[in-house]
Formats: sequence, structure tokens, C-alpha cells
Amino acid sequence: MASIFSRIIAGEIPCYKVAEDDRFFAFLDINPLAKGHTLVVPKQEVDYIFDLSDDDLAAMHVFAKHVALAIGKAFPCRKVGEAVLGLEVPHAHIHLVPMQSERDMLFSNPKLQLTDEEFRAVAAAIREAL
Ligand code: 5GP
Repeated sequence: MASIFSRIIAGEIPCYKVAEDDRFFAFLDINPLAKGHTLVVPKQEVDYIFDLSDDDLAAMHVFAKHVALAIGKAFPCRKVGEAVLGLEVPHAHIHLVPMQSERDMLFSNPKLQLTDEEFRAVAAAIREAL
């Protein structure tokens, strides 16, 4: 069965899309640690990120870099942090989270509750900064 992220990429499940190319897809995390928290995923359905080929892993990070720079422009922060966990959804993904401090990257922190309108505005702001 296709992963939830493959179904999002296929348009079967809605998301707040930020960016896409032929190999990668970026969209807002539905349980954000901060405004701008974005997931970058390969279209190829691979569970463990380090099972990607060297070329795909490198290209995924270059794609994530462009998205991270746009997040930083749209949501000024000290840095955009990157994390790879992947224990919940078995489809490799990079979390990009705007940070003011290291604590902002703690996944045990309470998540933001954003309205549909707020999610749309966040995604639009990042897309405009790309
Ligand atoms: P991880 O696998 O990295 O531990 O966590 C998976 C992440 O994917 C979580 O931060 C969770 O909020 C996010 N997530 C899970 N299901 C969905 C979904 O259907 N849509 C979106 N946008 N994010 C999701």
C-alpha cells in the first residue's frame, strides 16, 4: 500500500504544498513545531533516507536547501534546522523547522494548532520567497 506521503504527492490526500520538482516534493507538516515547519520527501517511496542512492540523497538536500532559504525569508529566524526522524511515517522525509533556539527542534514540544487559512498563508509565504 502506498505511504501517506505518496498519496499526498499523488494528490489523493490534500496538503499545503510548498514546492515540487521531478524527484522531490515539499509540503507543510500538519503538526508544526513552528510556522513554516515543512517536510521534504522524495517521490520515490523509500522508507529509510540512507537507502536512497548517493545522487538522490545529495539532490534531496539541495532541494531542501532552496526550501529552507525560502522558509528563512518568509519566517525570519536564527537558522532553519533540519531533522530526519522517520519513525512515524515510513517514507523518507526531512523536517525543516525555523528556529530561534535549539529547543525549537524538540519534537516533544507542543505542536501549533493552525487554521486552514493560516496553513494556506504559511505555504503561500514560503512559495513567494522561493
Ligand atoms: P516522523 O516520521 O518524522 O517521526 O514524523 C512524521 C511527520 O509527518 C510528523 O511530524 C507528522 O506531523 C507529519 N505527518 C503525518 N501525517 C501527515 C499528513 O497526513 N499530512 C502532513 N502534512 N503531515 C503529516
